[in-house]
Amino acid sequence: MLKTFKLGGVHPPENKISREKSIEVLDLPKKAFIPVGQVLGAPSVPLVKRGDMVKVGQLIAKGEAFISANIHSSVSGKVFKIDDIVDSSGFRKKTIIIDVDGDEWEEGIDTSNEIIRDISLSKAEIIERIKASGIVGLGGATFPSHVKLMVPKGKKAEVLIINGVECEPYLTSDHRLMLEKTEELLIGTKILMKGLAVDKAIVGIENNKADAIEKLTKVAKDYAGITILPLKVKYPQGGEKQLIKAAINREVPSGALPIEVGAVVNNVGTTYAVYEAVQKNKPLVERIVTLTGKSLEETANFLVRIGTPISNLLESKNGLPEDTAKVISGGPMMGKTLTTIDAAVVKGTSGVLLIPEKESKRIESSTCIRCGKCVSVCPMGLEPHLLEKLVQIEDWEETQKNNVMDCIECGSCVYTCPSYRPLLDYIRLGKSKVGEIIRSRKK
Ligand code: SF4
Ligand code: SF4
Repeated sequence: MLKTFKLGGVHPPENKISREKSIEVLDLPKKAFIPVGQVLGAPSVPLVKRGDMVKVGQLIAKGEAFISANIHSSVSGKVFKIDDIVDSSGFRKKTIIIDVDGDEWEEGIDTSNEIIRDISLSKAEIIERIKASGIVGLGGATFPSHVKLMVPKGKKAEVLIINGVECEPYLTSDHRLMLEKTEELLIGTKILMKGLAVDKAIVGIENNKADAIEKLTKVAKDYAGITILPLKVKYPQGGEKQLIKAAINREVPSGALPIEVGAVVNNVGTTYAVYEAVQKNKPLVERIVTLTGKSLEETANFLVRIGTPISNLLESKNGLPEDTAKVISGGPMMGKTLTTIDAAVVKGTSGVLLIPEKESKRIESSTCIRCGKCVSVCPMGLEPHLLEKLVQIEDWEETQKNNVMDCIECGSCVYTCPSYRPLLDYIRLGKSKVGEIIRSRKK
């Protein structure tokens, strides 16, 4: 029987309509918009100014805090200006805007398709290269990858888990990457194993991606210590804690990190970026982005330079369909509605989903009927209806006691609620308030 996590979970329609679309290189933008605060942690500090000439792969903003990441130019050209621009989160962020001129790369970056198999860097050099290259979690979390490899004193990494689950409906960028960059992904896995000093890795993939499972299983025979693990389809199996439970049957305690149970999890996109950084000396300047939605004439999986406006992806496929009601960055369960399609692709952009008018109508919510469905589907064992009430009455102490910070914002409770309660809106507010209180206590 296929493994999966035990607690909660739902089965939304998969709608992987772009799954057969091979990775297509998107044309360079005329202007690139590169926010300096696009990853989890402190914003990076700009190293360039208006009028400076830059090359692809050049460091343009330095991650100086412990949790932050370097930002590199994804294009060559002249810095037009540094300004506050609305990004995909809907907030104004300091952004380096570059007028694109040609495609000149920094020296020493290998842009060929030759696969480099020998891993010559040491453990310490691997961590340093990943840090220098600005690699972050590309599954959406954007947590700096080098920090995950720095195992805290007293803890021990036993197993690396590679997340090829891609349980979010519609999105297919990870699926295509596993099919088209199979060997590079496995070399990336070996690099991370060396960086962590573990001899065991598990690549977890839901069994709706049978072709990727088959190909990886075949190629992985030449890569000792890597197991390809097909998983039963269940949302949100791509959540770190859910994947750890499914893959190695260990439970990460409330408020703890995966290393607590000896695991480190990295997404397949991140692992490929690690391969490129370590074997090709290539910083994170591009990523795969799914463009999808039922109203599109043609869907796509693009290889996109970071900083490319989302409108460029749409224009390359006949523009925004007239009946579009919403454009979402990410998938329908965890994605965020964009306030402008001029927002740029950032390191955390896994997909762009168009929702047509007829599918976007928000149904009027009614009173909670205490059916308990939201509780039974919550993969974190929370009581979403109770958290909603506690946030409404602003009882932050009880909201914290009821583990609001454990919510992974998977949206399963909202998906299942027969009264269409906006549970996640309240829970997000609760997380933000409780987070503020926790931070102020630490000061
Ligand atoms: S409370 Fe959070 S973790 Fe639980 S189902 Fe709702 S969104 Fe998911
Ligand atoms: S699923 Fe909706 S109606 Fe049922 S208990 Fe939860 S909030 Fe109330």
